Amino acid sequence: MVAVVTGGSRGIGKAIAEALLNINYTVIITARNESEDIKSLKTSFADKVFFFPCDISSEEDRKGLFSFARDNFGKLDLLVNNAGVAPRERKDILDITPEDFDFLTDINLKGTFFVTQTLAPLLTENEKSRIVNISSMSAYTASVNRGEYCISKAGISMITKLFAARLAEYGVSVIEIRPGIIETDMTSKVKEKYEKLIAEGITPINRMGLPEDVAKCVASVAQGNFDFCTGTVIDCDGGFNVRRL
Ligand code: NAP
Repeated sequence: MVAVVTGGSRGIGKAIAEALLNINYTVIITARNESEDIKSLKTSFADKVFFFPCDISSEEDRKGLFSFARDNFGKLDLLVNNAGVAPRERKDILDITPEDFDFLTDINLKGTFFVTQTLAPLLTENEKSRIVNISSMSAYTASVNRGEYCISKAGISMITKLFAARLAEYGVSVIEIRPGIIETDMTSKVKEKYEKLIAEGITPINRMGLPEDVAKCVASVAQGNFDFCTGTVIDCDGGFNVRRL
């Protein structure tokens, strides 16, 4: 079984890659830069780990990724769309510029859509294959100081439904995982704020999530445990999604 994990160089993507390696997948990890984490996975899992440099906002890089996967494996069993960025600077939606908007949506939204479109022919080569999109609780939660991020994640929810509808006839199921507050580089700058909110009870489960919490969900999908589900959302968020009174 062969998987592509975008943004697998650290954080959630790295944990996903490791979880897949532990259930015997061969994993093509992509990111813009090869990290120490990837080098250490290569040491532990030798010929099961490949790194392909790919900025998901670049059409040339996406095509390169397609050729690399096709030439080495001929087909794919799993695509995990995990790569994503936070705004370079959190700004009120009344102040963000078109450049701020384009920077973020070119990666998170357009990049995710076109990686999926580009790799689809390798996923449809199989009788059964799977796509997992890592969105966020921001897909449905309004944070007015990072609106472009929320818009990109809401868009990933629709990307999930669109490809679920389009690819079901080829045996491809598409699952969206919505992480909550997860401890990674992305949240390191706002960790204190989130810890305070969690201490005050913002999530029923009283801790920050770990990259491994998300990776366990992906591994379960990868093992075929959700094969009658498509277009389905898994909230991996300590219960943030629960409305309470
Ligand atoms: P992270 O630690 O910042 O890691 C982001 C990964 O994406 C890195 O591997 C990075 O590698 C890669 N990446 C960034 N820009 C890229 C680009 N243009 N092309 C290809 N790869 C790129 O973030 P994380 O917290 O693990 O987040 C992973 C995903 O989960 C993101 O989609 C994020 O929005 C989502 N998420 C995170 C949280 C959270 O609380 N942490 C919550 C909900 C959702 P390079 O920099 O080398 O390219």
